[in-house]
Amino acid sequence: MMKAIRMKVKILTIFPELFPGFLGASLTGKALDEGKWSIEVVNIRDYAFDKHGSVDDTPSGGGAGMVMRADVLGAALKANYTSGRLINMSPRGMPFNQAKAHQLAKEGELTIICSRFEGIDERVLEAYGAEDVSIGDYILTGGEQAAMVMLDAVIRLLPDVLGNSQSTVAESFEEILLEHPQYTRPTEWEGRSIPDILLSGHHKKIADWRHLQSEEITKERRPDLWQKYLASK
Ligand code: SAH
Repeated sequence: MMKAIRMKVKILTIFPELFPGFLGASLTGKALDEGKWSIEVVNIRDYAFDKHGSVDDTPSGGGAGMVMRADVLGAALKANYTSGRLINMSPRGMPFNQAKAHQLAKEGELTIICSRFEGIDERVLEAYGAEDVSIGDYILTGGEQAAMVMLDAVIRLLPDVLGNSQSTVAESFEEILLEHPQYTRPTEWEGRSIPDILLSGHHKKIADWRHLQSEEITKERRPDLWQKYLASK
């Protein structure tokens, strides 16, 4: 029996050939083939007004780089944006995180604007009520990479996409602490063994050991999460 589609994604970009990219492989690719989500890619250049397909112009007020024109992107949105959340990938956006991934996974429909250059004329974002979302405090060359990272995190949370639904529960960020280290066979590798406790068969002791490891790694690597964890206890 064919499962119902869980999410429709629409992408606006000047590099349509980048999609579905890595979203077409592995778990997200399988879910795409199975029709659990769909992707429609719109080339913003198709909405340019001149024969060269220009989508950008110099920044008003001067400065380096180019800015995507409100009239061109506006025409692309007018023809393609119907309903649901409208997201613009931007380093100026609200930070994307696992909580946001859960929120977006409930949406059913997402339209995502990917830009290049210095960004987009603010007026068109305002007019369409687009929300800016950032995937982290660093600058990429384009919104396409950011959109794919965000979508990867969202799609794996859709119902029936991950094989083992348990695996989304005990992961880093699902609970505040970072995940404990993992091991598998062989038990001995180049003089290094797996911690004895993991081979002991004592489920309670193993759980305690993993929890302690999680605490130590979080304390060391993420003082921000550690404080949040302490506050939550
Ligand atoms: N001058 C801009 C950066 C432009 S980077 C600024 O300082 O804000 C070019 C494009 O890449 C952006 O328009 C955005 O779509 C995308 N991008 C870059 N870094 C990103 C990030 N951390 N999160 C989301 N999108 C990003």
